[in-house]
Amino acid sequence: MKRTDYLSWDEYFMAVALLAAHRSKDPSTQVGACVANEQNKIVGVGYNGFPWGCSDDELPWARQGKFLETKYPYVCHAELNAVLNSISRDLRRCRIYVGLFPCNECTKVILQAGIEEIIYLSDKYRESDQVKANASYTRKLPLFIGEKDGEKFYIVPMRGVGLWDAIWGFVALKDDLKTVKGVFFDHKGETPGLGANIKEPFFYQDFADEQIYNGDQFKGIVVAKGNADPKNEDKNDNEVDAIAGATITGDGVTVMFKKDLAMYLPYFNTLK
Ligand SMILES: [Zn+2]
Repeated sequence: MKRTDYLSWDEYFMAVALLAAHRSKDPSTQVGACVANEQNKIVGVGYNGFPWGCSDDELPWARQGKFLETKYPYVCHAELNAVLNSISRDLRRCRIYVGLFPCNECTKVILQAGIEEIIYLSDKYRESDQVKANASYTRKLPLFIGEKDGEKFYIVPMRGVGLWDAIWGFVALKDDLKTVKGVFFDHKGETPGLGANIKEPFFYQDFADEQIYNGDQFKGIVVAKGNADPKNEDKNDNEVDAIAGATITGDGVTVMFKKDLAMYLPYFNTLK
């Protein structure tokens, strides 16, 4: 039997970030950052320190005094170092773990590097202007919470691309945040009778009661061609049956489900 008290991926990457912070020579604030990719591989680690070739002993670590006599003009933050030290040039779809909510400058670096998710432990500077500025261009995710017949559900908007143009929709999750209650889709220019059928009730029906997880692993819902379960009796396979002749539109729905729903998972985890 395997151990059950092992670290989750989130705990593991945050622990790496916190360990890296111990390398910092800053007497007041030690911050570490860890970048992980979609395959849960660590691709970058950093901590706050002075740039290459700049002496930790000669440059100042003070927080107060004349600007040039403080650490601020010299120090590189953990997130910047984690991005610059990364072994991959492409950080799209990665996430960054950091002890402290990133500052405005680092958030720009994180977004420009393509990193899609920031996981932080503390936001003790939340009232500062810098953090407010950064929150204003970090994407805000709308979430609708509904209640019907005494049952609470969560509605997530989604957007994606079909064969010809934009597709979009909503998914309602049950209170367990794992089971689909229902869906709605629409599109701008999919082919009538084919991809355009994503907005037909017969397509919606298959999603009800489908699970978005397989065990602990988030899967979303896959619009599957050659589905082994065409009558959709298995609600635990994370699959619904594809519409004939609409493969690309269906793939667009699959991607939209996975990508947009994934952005809500850190928040959902706080509700469980
Ligand atoms: Zn920073």
